[in-house]
Amino acid sequence: MNCPVCREPLIVAEREGIELDACPWCRGLWFDAGELALLAENVGRTLSIAEGGPLAAAVSSEKPRKCPRCDKAMEKVFLGQAPRVMLDRCPSHGLWFDHGELGSLVGQMAVAPGSHPEAVLRFMGETFGVAAPPPESKATGNPAEEVER
Ligand SMILES: [Zn+2]
Ligand SMILES: [Zn+2]
Repeated sequence: MNCPVCREPLIVAEREGIELDACPWCRGLWFDAGELALLAENVGRTLSIAEGGPLAAAVSSEKPRKCPRCDKAMEKVFLGQAPRVMLDRCPSHGLWFDHGELGSLVGQMAVAPGSHPEAVLRFMGETFGVAAPPPESKATGNPAEEVER
């Protein structure tokens, strides 16, 4: 499975009992359908919106990205409220988070009673701390710098 942004192979990162696919280059994260709700649950948060349900369509000048599973163009959708987080979604397979988008969304999730908020921080730190391969093996620039919001 390749990163929809960099087209480089994603690496499997297991965090909080969930297997995620992470891109070491742009630090994006792929969630298979259902994994986002599972993550929220595992870190003691509740996801207020069903990730697979109807979501506000986002209008964006960004090029459509392709689903890493089926290679069809993903749709741009909004999740969350303040701020709204724009994500790429394949209705059949899951969600793509650019670096930083997951943190923004998780920060908005309601904390379940008796949960441990530090689990979220631990999750974030570890996931985004994935070691990147040496930069010299990459032909052109840093893909993260091309992101414009
Ligand atoms: Zn990438
Ligand atoms: Zn797909």
